[in-house]
Amino acid sequence: MDFGRLTPPQSGTPVTVEGDRLIVPDDPVIPFIEGDGIGVDITPVMRRVVDAAVEKAYGGKRKIHWWSLPAGEKAKEAYGEWLPAETVAAIREYRVAIKGPMTTPVGGGIRSLNVALRQDLDLFACVRPVRWFEGVPAPVKRPQDLDVVIFRENTEDTYLGIEFPSGSEEARKFIELVHANHKKRIRPDAGIGIKPVSKSATERICESAIRHALQKNLPSITIVHKGNIMKFTEGAFRDWAYAYFKEHYRDRVVTEQELWDGASAEGRIVIKDRIADAMFQQLLLRPDEYSAIVTPNLNGDYLSDACAAQVGGLGMAPGANIGDGVGLFEATHGTAPKYAGQDKVNPGSLILSAAMMLEYMGWDEAAGRIHDALGKTIAEKRVTYDLERQMEGATLLSSSAFGEAIVENL
Ligand code: NAD
Repeated sequence: MDFGRLTPPQSGTPVTVEGDRLIVPDDPVIPFIEGDGIGVDITPVMRRVVDAAVEKAYGGKRKIHWWSLPAGEKAKEAYGEWLPAETVAAIREYRVAIKGPMTTPVGGGIRSLNVALRQDLDLFACVRPVRWFEGVPAPVKRPQDLDVVIFRENTEDTYLGIEFPSGSEEARKFIELVHANHKKRIRPDAGIGIKPVSKSATERICESAIRHALQKNLPSITIVHKGNIMKFTEGAFRDWAYAYFKEHYRDRVVTEQELWDGASAEGRIVIKDRIADAMFQQLLLRPDEYSAIVTPNLNGDYLSDACAAQVGGLGMAPGANIGDGVGLFEATHGTAPKYAGQDKVNPGSLILSAAMMLEYMGWDEAAGRIHDALGKTIAEKRVTYDLERQMEGATLLSSSAFGEAIVENL
C-alpha cells in the first residue's frame, strides 16, 4: 500500500485480520504518534519499557518494529496539516497503534485530533481499565477495592457534535419542528444539542464488553444509564443492552433480577444496571461490587475520570480506542505543556496503555511483566514528582529514570 508522503519501515511485518481474529506476527510493525507537549518525555520511555519487556518475555523471538507517524503540532510544522490523511491510513492498515497526547488546535472549524481519529477510524469502544497500584496515594480509604474496566460508547450521544447556537436559524427551525410535534415548549433563545443513541452502536459496545468479561472471567457487567430521565436514548441503551446479552449469550449470563428470583450465578456473568448518578455513589461506597461497566459516551467520560481519581489520578490511567480490527492505545491525560521537555512527568499512563496494547496483541506475558515491574517500582517508592510529593520517604525520579527503574524490575 502507498502511504504518500510517509515511508513504512523496511523491516517488520504488518498485523493483519482474519475474520474477527487479529494475526500478530513475531516482528509486527507498530505505528506510534509521539504526541505534543510531554509526548517527547513519555513516549520514548514507553518504547524503552515495552522493548525491554518483550525481550525479557520472549528472549529475542519477538520484537516490535516501531514506525513514527506525524500528527499534532509536529505534523502541522512539517506538512501544514494537524492530522495527515496518511497517518490515519497507516493506523487503519497496520491495525494496532499507540499515541501520546495531542494538543487540541484552538480555532473555529478544527476538530479535536483525538475525536477526529476516533471518528475517522470508527473506534467505537473507549476502554478504560482502572485499578490501584500499591503505594499510590489515593483519596479513599481502600483504593484496592476498585478494579473496573469501563466500556464507553465512543461514537454517538451528545459527542457527535451536532449543535445549533442560541438564536441561529437552525435552532429556530428545530424549535419550530419540536413545537409542531410535541406538547413541551423550548425557550426561543435556547441553544440546541442532539443526543442520538442507536441500537446498533449499543449492541457493538455490549459485544466488546462481554467478550472482555468472558475472556477475563469477570463476575459482572453493569449497564450505567440515565434512563429514568432520558427514556428513548439512555433508557433504550439499557433495554437494548439487556436484550443483546440475553439473546446472544443466554447460557453465559444471568440478570440481577433473575438472581433475586432464585436463579444461580454459578459460571455466569451477572448483568445489572445502575442509574448514572447512583453509580458514582456506588463506586465510592461499594467498589468491589463492580467489574465491567458498559455505558453511553458522556456517562463514560465522567465515570472514567472519577474512577481514575479514586485510585490516584490521571497520571496512571491507561486507555484504548478499539474499532473493528483496529486498536489505538493512548495516554488518557493531555499534553501538560508546562512540563514539556523537562523529563519530569509520569509516563505511567502511556506505559500501562502499551501493556493493554500488548494484551490486545495476545502478548500477555510481556504485558504482565510490565504490570508487575511498574507495581514493584511504585511499591519501592521510586516515582516521578506527581507521586513523590504525596508519598512519605519516596525517591524522586525523572521520567526516563522511572522508565529505567521499571526496566530493572522487569
Ligand atoms: P493535561 O492532562 O495536559 O493536564 C492536567 C493536569 O495534569 C496538569 O496539572 C498536568 O500537569 C497534569 N498531568 C498531565 N499528565 C501528567 C503526567 N503524565 N504526569 C504528571 N502530571 C500530569 O490537561 P489540560 O491542561 O487540560 O490540556 C492540555 C492540552 O492537552 C490541551 O491542548 C488539551 O486539548 C490536550 N488534551 C489532549 C488529550 C489527548 O491527547 N488524549 C487529552 C486531554 C487533553
